[in-house]
Amino acid sequence: RVISGINIMEKLQAIRGMNDILPEEALEWEYLESIFYRVVKSFGYREIRFPIVEQTQLFKRSIGAVTDIVEKEMYSFDDRNGDNVSLRPEGTAGCVRAADQHGLLYNQQQRLWYQGPMFRHERPQKGRYRQFHQFGVEAFGMSGPAIDVEVIQISAMLWKDLGLTQYLKLEINNIGSAQDRKKYAQALTAYLSGKVDELDDDARNRMHSNPMRILDSKNEAVRSALVDAPKLCDFVNQDSKTHFRKLKELLTELEVQFIENNRLVRGLDYYNNCVYEWTTDTLGAQGAVCGGGRYDGLVRQLGGRETEACGFAIGIERLVLMLRSLNKIPASALRPTDVYLVVVGGSLESEAFSVAEAIREKYPHLGVICHCAGGKFNSQMKRAYNSGARVAVVLERDGEATVPLMEGKIRSLDDGAESIVTEIDNIPEKIGKFFGNSEV
Ligand code: ATP
Ligand code: MG
Repeated sequence: RVISGINIMEKLQAIRGMNDILPEEALEWEYLESIFYRVVKSFGYREIRFPIVEQTQLFKRSIGAVTDIVEKEMYSFDDRNGDNVSLRPEGTAGCVRAADQHGLLYNQQQRLWYQGPMFRHERPQKGRYRQFHQFGVEAFGMSGPAIDVEVIQISAMLWKDLGLTQYLKLEINNIGSAQDRKKYAQALTAYLSGKVDELDDDARNRMHSNPMRILDSKNEAVRSALVDAPKLCDFVNQDSKTHFRKLKELLTELEVQFIENNRLVRGLDYYNNCVYEWTTDTLGAQGAVCGGGRYDGLVRQLGGRETEACGFAIGIERLVLMLRSLNKIPASALRPTDVYLVVVGGSLESEAFSVAEAIREKYPHLGVICHCAGGKFNSQMKRAYNSGARVAVVLERDGEATVPLMEGKIRSLDDGAESIVTEIDNIPEKIGKFFGNSEV
């Protein structure tokens, strides 16, 4: 654009469906993350970090070539060497690739967690984005059902610590083995062949390639065409049934409530036996906050040795939306600053910095901002209030420094109560009473 001869640069915007997380929101994320870290640690899980970009083949072979994710949603491109690579749409594939590549899976048991951005080219809407973030846990080398239950317990503990238990329900299903599903898919395709007129385009396209995906169609007409469809549970092998029965018994004994949903199939091909989803009706259409299950065949499918495995992934954005709308984030977690040093008058920088430093040393959990760049008392106090701090420390001197500063003031920003501290060295000690024991 050219306006009166001056070149105005067009401002660039973030890509649709990819969000900036601004400082206020970041505090909500940090709160959630801190609880997540504590819970996975308390179960003995260790973090693993793996790349955001992987060979496209990794996702095709794990998630499945005829899934929505791989067919329609992946950010794939040829890099400068001509290799076809993709931004990861989920974490399990990369986690398995990394763990196997470095020998973590051979003859071992592993309890791992990860966190980070995932990318899917979906239609952006509330709770559904093109860059979104997941927390996940994966457990390797253990046959169930105790480990399935442990993994579910981690999620249940998380909801408890976040105050969300009453808003979430656990739906589970037994989808059997890959062979069971192959036989079932054939039966389902045969059934659907007699119902073609009642299906929508999407279902007709899926009918031969991936008929099970039709089961969770949201289209009412399609759903009613499915009423008499063969049931997956009639195709599931005996071992899977035993596994699932024991798993349910254990959940019941642990008082983890669940609902069996025989339409729950999940959008990723690698699952077997028990799959589940935690859903809420506090978020509108995007109600799934966590999905998981067992995937015993995946390590082998990616070239490793047969390794039992299970895990889940949580959508962080949806959880943050939930916490925010239900007001479940404690005020203390949202306060960016606790103490603001107001510094008025000549040459007080070094005194102010020493006081701030002494407060930080005494209370490492408090956020202490020391005002920079001068200004009048009133304008600094305004900044102190805006910072969210609970306490202002005022260091003030008329004119230039001739003698060292003796006195300071502490002012509560909650109620304006003020106390004078006759020796600035005592400020850190006096500040303690403005904060509860748990906060300092
Ligand atoms: P949905 O049915 O909502 O599309 P999904 O079955 O595709 O979810 P998974 O692949 O199992 O989801 O991922 C686990 C969790 O990640 C989901 O339960 C959800 O909370 C979150 N999630 C998935 N896709 C998105 C997205 N595009 N934006 C935000 N969160 C997402
Ligand atoms: Mg999806």
